[in-house]
Amino acid sequence: MELLDLFNKKYGDIRVEGLDSKYLPFLKLKSYLDEYFPDKVSLGKSFLGNEIYELKIGSGKTKILAWSQMHGNESTGTRAILDVFEFLKLNENWSKFILESISFHFIPMLNPDGSTLFTRRNAAGIDLNRDFLQEASPEIRLLKSYVQKHQPYFLFNLHDQRTIFNVGNTAKPATLSFLAPSADDNRLETESRIQSMAVIDYMVKGLEKIIPGCLARFSDEFYPTSTGDNFMKMGFPCILFEAGHYPHDYQRDHVRKYNALSILLALEKICSHDLSDKGNYDQIPQNNKKFLDIILRNVLVRSNDSESLLDIGIYLDERLDLDSQEILFCSRIEEIGDLSNYFGHIDIDKKGKIYVGKSSMFPIIGDLADFSVGTIHFETGKFNG
Ligand SMILES: [Zn+2]
Repeated sequence: MELLDLFNKKYGDIRVEGLDSKYLPFLKLKSYLDEYFPDKVSLGKSFLGNEIYELKIGSGKTKILAWSQMHGNESTGTRAILDVFEFLKLNENWSKFILESISFHFIPMLNPDGSTLFTRRNAAGIDLNRDFLQEASPEIRLLKSYVQKHQPYFLFNLHDQRTIFNVGNTAKPATLSFLAPSADDNRLETESRIQSMAVIDYMVKGLEKIIPGCLARFSDEFYPTSTGDNFMKMGFPCILFEAGHYPHDYQRDHVRKYNALSILLALEKICSHDLSDKGNYDQIPQNNKKFLDIILRNVLVRSNDSESLLDIGIYLDERLDLDSQEILFCSRIEEIGDLSNYFGHIDIDKKGKIYVGKSSMFPIIGDLADFSVGTIHFETGKFNG
C-alpha cells in the first residue's frame, strides 16, 4: 500500500494519546518515555541537569538523526516523531522495508529546561540555534559531539514557526515550511544541499495532495552561527522543518499530523537513494509574513476633536500559566492603520463601528487588547468573541 493511503488509514490508530497540548514539559515527556521506551539512552544532561535522551528504531545501514525542541516552546516536532515511531512499528510492508533500510535516531527534546519553562532559549538564556560556534550551552555541545561521533547520513532539525507566516502572496497559512540551509553566503548548491532539496521536493509533492497551497520554503539566507547551516557546511545533508499554523489549530495538533507525514515521506525518499535531482525545489513558494491572528477592519476611532477609520491588527502572545500548566493566548495590538496588505486568521470588517477602549481612548501598539468594537470584546488581552 502506498504511504499516503496507509497513513490516512492508520494514523488515527497509532496517534499517541495525551500529547494534544502545545505545552510539552520535560517531566511529561519523561513519564511517556519511561513507560513506552524503556531502552531509551541518556546522552547527557542539560544546563539544569535534565536528561537528554535518544530513541532508536530500525536496523538498516542508513543512519538518520532527528532532533526536536532545541527551542523549548516548539513541541510539534517532538509529538510528530513520537507518532512516527508508532507508525514505523506497524507490521506493514511499507514500514518493514523502511526499518530494514534505515536506522532512525531521535533526540526528542534537546532543550528540556526551555521546554519546561516554555521558552525558546535554554535556562541560561542561550538560543541553541545560534550557539553552534561558541558552544556555550551543554545542549549544543552534546548535539555536535553526537553528530561527529556517529556521522549520520541525514539530519532533520525540527522547529515551530509563528502564526504570521503565509505562503507566497496567498492568504494560505504556511502550515509546513522547509529549508535546505545554505552552507555559505553565496548559497551554493553543494551536493548535500541538493540532496536536502530533493527530499523537500518529494515531501512537498506528497503533502500538496493533503494540504494544497499550505507549503512553503523558508529563507535560505546564510546564518553563520546556526545549526543547520553549519552542519551543511560540514557536509551533512540537513533539513529544517518548520511546523506552522493551520486554521483554528493553536495547539498545533492538526499540524502535528502533517508534520509526522512529512517525516515519513522524507524517510521514504531517503530510502530510494535517488537524491541527485532537486526537482521543483526552487518553485516552492517562499514564506512570507502577511498574517496577523486577528484583524478588525474599518474601526472608527474618535478623539474629542477628530476621528479616524482604521484597521487594528492583533497578535496572540503565548504565555505559560503556572497554575493551570496551560498556555494562555494574550491578544496584543501589533499594528494599526491600513492593513489591506495583511490577512487575518480571524478577519472581520467592522464597517465603521466605534472603538470603545477600557484603559485608553485609542488603540496603542504593544498594549494588551482591552476594548470593544460592536460585538467584539477584549478584556486585558482576553478575546471574548
Ligand atoms: Zn525554532
